[in-house]
Amino acid sequence: MNKGGRVLDKLSIVIPCLNEEKNLAELHDELIGINNGKIEIIYIDDGSKDKTWEVIEELIENSSVQVKGIRFTKNFGKEAAIESGFNVCTGDAVVTLDADLQHPVDTIPKMIEFWKNNKDVYIINALKETRQTEPFIKSALIHLYYKVFSFSCGMNLKNHTDFKFLDICVVKQYINLPEKNKFYRGLVNWLGYNSMNINIKINERPGNKTSWGNLQLIKYAKNTILSFSDLPLKSITWLGLFLFFFSLVMTIDTLVKKINGSSAEGFPTVILLILGIGSVIIFSLGLIGEYLAEIFNEIKARPRFVLSNKKESDYKDKQ
Ligand code: UDP
Ligand code: MG
Repeated sequence: MNKGGRVLDKLSIVIPCLNEEKNLAELHDELIGINNGKIEIIYIDDGSKDKTWEVIEELIENSSVQVKGIRFTKNFGKEAAIESGFNVCTGDAVVTLDADLQHPVDTIPKMIEFWKNNKDVYIINALKETRQTEPFIKSALIHLYYKVFSFSCGMNLKNHTDFKFLDICVVKQYINLPEKNKFYRGLVNWLGYNSMNINIKINERPGNKTSWGNLQLIKYAKNTILSFSDLPLKSITWLGLFLFFFSLVMTIDTLVKKINGSSAEGFPTVILLILGIGSVIIFSLGLIGEYLAEIFNEIKARPRFVLSNKKESDYKDKQ
């Protein structure tokens, strides 16, 4: 039993939704028994083009548990959707869950038990045991991304998902982080609270269609690294230093050859050097530009999302 452990009077479940009209009813049915119904489910419609909002409204009207719905004016992204859900949470702990039935709901009771019985644990991460079957190049790129991320940001997020159980104090700290470009998985980890991991098997997505295109994934990878680490910016200095020593060696080599009477190979060397150094300069400038854009976006301080509707069930009337 739960002697002297934590008490979970209410669990908030935050679910970002983009075009999920077909999945929400089934997901909702799976969720209502959790924590003996002492839950609030928060659906965030992140600019869906289908009838997701209508389904959410129906759940708000008819559900036996407390339901809140937030609707964005357009697609602001999953991270923004999660944060807007956090803003209206009133539970003692919060679970973030995908709407597409890929995250196994039967893990939540295990997370609850763990949280109740381990007072020093504030975050429970669901780690996927195996990745879904992806094409070789895509899975190699994902592998490379995690390597670069862990090298430049100092944390290993391999196999991490956005399926997490958070003590409410973690959520409050997360909301208080002032930056606009928030990377949920990374920042929750960065907060430094004690965490533990549970392994899960990711279900196949119904219809097997992710809402992330390849270009979106590349942008996401770039954003997460640049918003988290200044190492790429600093590495430009090292690159410059390396090029300086390289040119020093080349200069000495050329001088020695000149003194010995055999001049250095001419035209191709010059062309290669101009092209090589030129591309390094342009790449470095581009990198500086990326950081400048980050600063630009943070300084504009636009809201991370705009709501077009917000509703919740008259839960007390139903009790
Ligand atoms: N999602 C969202 N906004 C977006 C993209 C995705 O709210 O711009 C939601 C989506 O409805 C799902 C979750 O985020 O509930 C994960 O999306 P998806 O299944 O496409 O990602 P994957 O499982 O491939 O990482
Ligand atoms: Mg998914």
